[in-house]
Amino acid sequence: MVTQKPVIVLKFGGTSVGDVSRVKLVADIVARHRKESPDSNLIVVVSAMAGETNKLVALAKSCVERPNPREMDVLLASGEQVTVSLLAMRLLEIGIPAKSLLAPQARIATTAEHTNALIEGVDSERLNRMMEDGTVLVVAGFQGVTEDGDITTLGRGGSDITAVALAAAANATACYIYTDVQGVFSTDPRMVKGAKLLERVSHEEMLELASLGAKVLHTRSVYFAMRYNIPLVVLSTFAGALEPGQNGTWIVPEGELMEKPIVTGVTYRLDEARIMIQGMSPDISKISNLFDVLAEKSVFIDMISQETVNANSVNLSITVPDENSLTALETIRAMVPELGAEGAMIDRDIAKVSVVGIGMRYHTGVAARVFRALAKERIDIAMINTSEIKMSVLVPRKYCEVAVRALHDEFIDFDVATSEEAA
Ligand code: ASP
Ligand code: MG
Repeated sequence: MVTQKPVIVLKFGGTSVGDVSRVKLVADIVARHRKESPDSNLIVVVSAMAGETNKLVALAKSCVERPNPREMDVLLASGEQVTVSLLAMRLLEIGIPAKSLLAPQARIATTAEHTNALIEGVDSERLNRMMEDGTVLVVAGFQGVTEDGDITTLGRGGSDITAVALAAAANATACYIYTDVQGVFSTDPRMVKGAKLLERVSHEEMLELASLGAKVLHTRSVYFAMRYNIPLVVLSTFAGALEPGQNGTWIVPEGELMEKPIVTGVTYRLDEARIMIQGMSPDISKISNLFDVLAEKSVFIDMISQETVNANSVNLSITVPDENSLTALETIRAMVPELGAEGAMIDRDIAKVSVVGIGMRYHTGVAARVFRALAKERIDIAMINTSEIKMSVLVPRKYCEVAVRALHDEFIDFDVATSEEAA
């Protein structure tokens, strides 16, 4: 048996390969990694050029009203075919052995849910064999292949998933996600000037941050990284001019973190709607029936709250993703008589603002500080959701920015020593 060299995975997003000069820059970065880690093999995953996937979606929609999902995947996968070949050519030209691979060649096996497929496995032995002579593999992100040989895609932003799945399969020492921002910030830097670049966060925190609104990584890719203990690094492709320490966030297992801040990040989402069912019967079998029906219609439910009006009547609120909100509302309205309810209303003018941090496990008083910070700004909270390491509040959309700032000021721009006392 040949001893296997360690593997490093590098992933470049759409803006990083947005034009030919950037493809050249990416090839130089690959060359640098190769020089820095001569004892490792490299797998490089790329997205389509920025904007290309959107163009392909628009093209399909201009051709037919409802594109067939199987054919849509054949179309969408073409974006990544362009960038893998260009990058491999460029690497070859600068003297680096390289080979592009589409999903069927890399054997990235997925389910057959077209446009939203799940990765089931990767033939890592085959990849290792192809890298034995030091060849850099340039693999198309976002695409997969079914058992029957059909092309699939993993959902928008899915190249991150490809990268981490390959890293998991190859038991990579690290997976570098190159993008157009310097890493993961304590909040949206476009909204809050004082947003801080985070040096290190745990997988679990990143999973919450991603699902609660941080757009830098696909949630499912973080899940893979956590499950297989792969360190992720998020960093900018265009960091040439940056000082050391200004580029890169490491996402690592919790045990490797020295500090456990109470709150690591403040995020927000604007893509959910709240549906309120007024004056319905408190009968638990009716409530359970309602949730069964919503589940059958594949409606994702995020927050739930129930308030008692009197012995015979409760108000029930749920939040659902925007794209599910019409289905949810129609379904609920049709059930109003059997639920014994007065009616159902929808509110889209909402924002979900969240604070996330593993330190919440070890500190009390976080909720008190959240309420105090929002009360100071006179922001009313419509719903609340908590877990061990996060607290989310639903606020009117016009207060989103104020709420994010208030919570960032309260937790992040706070002197650490004082915050330990206050907790
Ligand atoms: N090109 C795909 C998209 O735009 C996948 C990705 O970029 O991650 O969604
Ligand atoms: Mg992306």
